[in-house]
Amino acid sequence: MADTLIKVDLSKPATSNENVHNRWHPDIPMACWVKPGDEFILETYDWTGGFIKNNDSANDVRDIDLSTVHYLSGPVGVKGAEPGDLLVVDLLDIGAKQDSLWGFNGFFSKKNGGGFLTDHFPQAQKSIWDIHGMFTKSRHVPGVEYAGLIHPGLIGCLPDQKMLDMWNEREVDFIATQPDRVPPLANPPFAATAHLGKLTGDAKTKVAAEAARTVPPREHGGNCDIKDLSRGSKIYFPVYVDGAGLSVGDLHFSQGDGEITFCGAIEMAGWVHMRVSLIKGGMAKYGIKNPIFKPSPITPTYNDYLIFEGISVDEQGKQHYLDVHVAYRQACLNAIEYLKKFGYSGAQAYSILGTAPVQGHISGVVDIPNACATLWLPTQIFDFDINPSAAGPIKHIDGSVQMPLSPDL
Ligand code: ZN
Repeated sequence: MADTLIKVDLSKPATSNENVHNRWHPDIPMACWVKPGDEFILETYDWTGGFIKNNDSANDVRDIDLSTVHYLSGPVGVKGAEPGDLLVVDLLDIGAKQDSLWGFNGFFSKKNGGGFLTDHFPQAQKSIWDIHGMFTKSRHVPGVEYAGLIHPGLIGCLPDQKMLDMWNEREVDFIATQPDRVPPLANPPFAATAHLGKLTGDAKTKVAAEAARTVPPREHGGNCDIKDLSRGSKIYFPVYVDGAGLSVGDLHFSQGDGEITFCGAIEMAGWVHMRVSLIKGGMAKYGIKNPIFKPSPITPTYNDYLIFEGISVDEQGKQHYLDVHVAYRQACLNAIEYLKKFGYSGAQAYSILGTAPVQGHISGVVDIPNACATLWLPTQIFDFDINPSAAGPIKHIDGSVQMPLSPDL
């Protein structure tokens, strides 16, 4: 049986757990050590450390201090790992904690985080999703049920000092180009809410001032939010420090491509059963700068889709040059408009696109001036027919159930 090397107690604050951290820095002490070939289990908080509750109010989504996230379990030291190696991580299984069989999806206020469609949904909203074995459904979003594609939103190894300095320099410079933007262009180091595992005292003060926030994906992987990096995947991570320092968190029961609602997945507390091994000198041998991975042999077999196209012309009719961000936004907005015809609110439709195993594709990036992106909506997750027909659309959702919304104060 694999040992549980890191445990989390959901009744206690994440900041009381010295095997958890919410920043990236090479001086964060290893929480535990393993050997190549070892199997082990890490428990994790949800990304907010338990701030978001299973209730019918979005006030917690509105009010959360986003400088506190993400709470990650680790770092796990791997004996013999050295800079330049590849750390091979098998995600043998992932699940929700038995005392917490639910997850949440949130739209963040434009003034506190924002999100992909924040101009269309500027206020905090939330949906709660109950977990029934491998399936999920929500009391706030009727008419859908689907199998989980369970994955860690966030997983990676500690950066070395040189990489950390590079991250900070480029992101701080970027923020300076538009310092007053809401939401901001990026998030600089912020010492006050840094939680650095076992670090205390003066050592903690120094590290907290320069430790990188966990928000973006970076060269080491980090907060990539890739739905297909799911249980059963094998990942190859670049190693930058002795021992590698593997950390994981932000578990998602399910998510659509793009994680478009910002807190766009079904966020949950849980556990990850994994195995590690090493490819010595693998970064140079394979020319690896960012992680690579193999997908799981087991994924939900939804194979019928309604596919929405979007092009790089924005909501105001302005032409953009091959901009896949604009094109994917249009594909998503087109899908939301379509689902509204069946009785969903825009928010419920948005929540489905964020949480269900929706595929997003960059379909064309050469035909100037328009990029074409597509959003693939699985039809089998609905308990009614969403295909276009001469008779339809039939209003299946009666509007009696809505998602909690909390206006800005
Ligand atoms: Zn997440």
